[in-house]
Amino acid sequence: MRNAEITTSLFNQPEWQNIQALIFDMDDTLYTSPELKGAYRQAACNLIAEVKGIDRLETEDLYHRTRSVIAARCGYTPSNKLILRELGIAWEIWQNQIIRTIDPGSFIRQDPELVTTLSILSSRYRLGLLTNNNRVHTDRILEILGVGPFFQAILTVSETGKTKPDRTLCSTMACLLDVLPEKCLVIGDEDGIDLIPARATGMKTYHVRHVSDVHRLRELFPAG
Ligand SMILES: [Mg+2]
Repeated sequence: MRNAEITTSLFNQPEWQNIQALIFDMDDTLYTSPELKGAYRQAACNLIAEVKGIDRLETEDLYHRTRSVIAARCGYTPSNKLILRELGIAWEIWQNQIIRTIDPGSFIRQDPELVTTLSILSSRYRLGLLTNNNRVHTDRILEILGVGPFFQAILTVSETGKTKPDRTLCSTMACLLDVLPEKCLVIGDEDGIDLIPARATGMKTYHVRHVSDVHRLRELFPAG
């Protein structure tokens, strides 16, 4: 059954019609850019090479081996932050590196359809954003996409020092939006990072495989 068919049947169930807040992931949910993702990975490898004093091939090998070890241990694809932490590189150093060297504006552009979708949804629901990205890049990406003002609460790794799948983040966001967890719908692309911890806190979830799945939400919810 297609994603849209599954969610249409779910949204017709009574408990789904009590939803009051939508909590979005950002990267690979509100936009997709393999190029920006590649730039983050390259920046991580550059930092590993610099700190460890190893060449490009050794760095690539170390990066992939470390990612595989963490994935096997945790059951989800780890963020660059977790890979670097495993290698003894502090989060602050990593964040300074990407803020200094990467401009998301070189990779993504405004999405008028996303603006329309979030405008419609924000007229009916409280919207929150929960991302593992840092505050500087989050603000920049939301500004480029043109959707920042639609979110009533934004939580990034910069404020919390925590990254998804830390379950406390979902509860914290529900408190910020002043909505009970069971009345929140979490919308994200990664099962292990976005959706499993959300369900563990009693929230409903919606899996995004492409940004078009986000646009579909405005048709799935009943008219306000
Ligand atoms: Mg994501």
